[in-house]
Amino acid sequence: MPKFQRIKGTHDILPQDARKWRYVEGVVQEVMQRYNFDEIRTPIFEETALFARGIGQLTDIVSKEMYTFLDRGKKSLTLKPEGTAPVIRAFIEHSLGEKKPVHKLYYISPMFRQENPQAGRLRQFHQFGAELVGSAAPEADVETIALAVDIYEQLGLKKYTLKINSVGDATCRAPYKERLKDYLRPRLDKLCRSCQERFDKNPLRILDCKEEGCRAETAEAPLIIDHLCEDCHAHFEAVKSLLSRLGIAFEVDHRLVRGLDYYTRTAFEILSGALGAQNALGGGGRYDLLAEELGGKPTPSVGFAAGIERLLMVLEKENLLSDFDSGPDVFIATLGEEARRWAVQTARQLRQRGLRVDYDFLGRSLKAQMKEANRSGARFALIVGENELQARKVVLRNLSSSEQETVAIDSLVGELEARLGKPG
Ligand code: AMP
Repeated sequence: MPKFQRIKGTHDILPQDARKWRYVEGVVQEVMQRYNFDEIRTPIFEETALFARGIGQLTDIVSKEMYTFLDRGKKSLTLKPEGTAPVIRAFIEHSLGEKKPVHKLYYISPMFRQENPQAGRLRQFHQFGAELVGSAAPEADVETIALAVDIYEQLGLKKYTLKINSVGDATCRAPYKERLKDYLRPRLDKLCRSCQERFDKNPLRILDCKEEGCRAETAEAPLIIDHLCEDCHAHFEAVKSLLSRLGIAFEVDHRLVRGLDYYTRTAFEILSGALGAQNALGGGGRYDLLAEELGGKPTPSVGFAAGIERLLMVLEKENLLSDFDSGPDVFIATLGEEARRWAVQTARQLRQRGLRVDYDFLGRSLKAQMKEANRSGARFALIVGENELQARKVVLRNLSSSEQETVAIDSLVGELEARLGKPG
């Protein structure tokens, strides 16, 4: 028989880890709600062209990393590699902009990129992200940055760095791009292959290249921050001043860019020192021109996306994931056929009252069942045999203190609820 294994770059999330995921996702949802962001769920796959336009043909994602396939109707489809283009596609398709001027949307979703798998870099990974659609105000940029930061704070994360920059807009970027290209042209043959490819259409990304050689060659390159138009400059100043007012620490990093033309003004990234080479927890920025690129009306917007696997790695490292109650409220241990049937019935009755209940499925001895009850992390065991049933009584054992008492079956539900601190 063939032995099947998961696909390289994907993970199974086993029960113990799934608990941690649920906790993190719960915190994300709670903080999103505090900021009045509403959830949006878009399909796992979309037309390939949406991503080519919405992320950019020249990006690594679109040119090298997408899971693209032809369906049986020969239509090119792609598993979503990021969340913004699908959200804006849905925003346009459902004419959300006509219903109210500003939409605050969030998602939690798997994403797919065919990258080289390594620690913190997977082929199926998960992101939470938020998009504030319909406002050009600096408050909107600060809203999404503060939202991201507050999610990390709520999870107890202390050590992270927020970096911000401005990449200008249609007015100031075109002349700047020419200046940058004039600077880079004589140095082109010293840049890495990817940067040489970026030179024509995506030169800003060259500033963001991590290769030593490219960094050395661009050390003295002109920076967009010195060439921002008045409006972009004012916007950037307003964002910085609001962040300071909120007490959110940031570093300005003039090399932080999003190279494509529909990304405008603010770009930001949140980094963690606890991660290795893949140290970005999340990133985002303004994309005022994307809605038009996708066939919609001009709709200034800003958003971010953040990785859940990397976040869990950091939380684990900093011991912020330790206390998870994992066991049932009650484990029913039985002796004899009649007691086993009683267990099936009582378990359902207690579950319908909201209690978490389990019992034995292997016909094990009472001793083995008690061992199982302890192993399961249950708070209480109910011990029942034929004699108890006849007397309409059960033994209730507190598994942490080992104290035992006898409880009448008729008052069992109330007695359990009282001991578990659950409302009756
Ligand atoms: P991006 O959409 O590339 O800006 O990614 C946003 C965040 O998603 C990153 O900062 C990472 O935390 C996470 N992320 C991106 N790509 C991967 C990947 N291949 N594996 C795991 N996490 C990723």
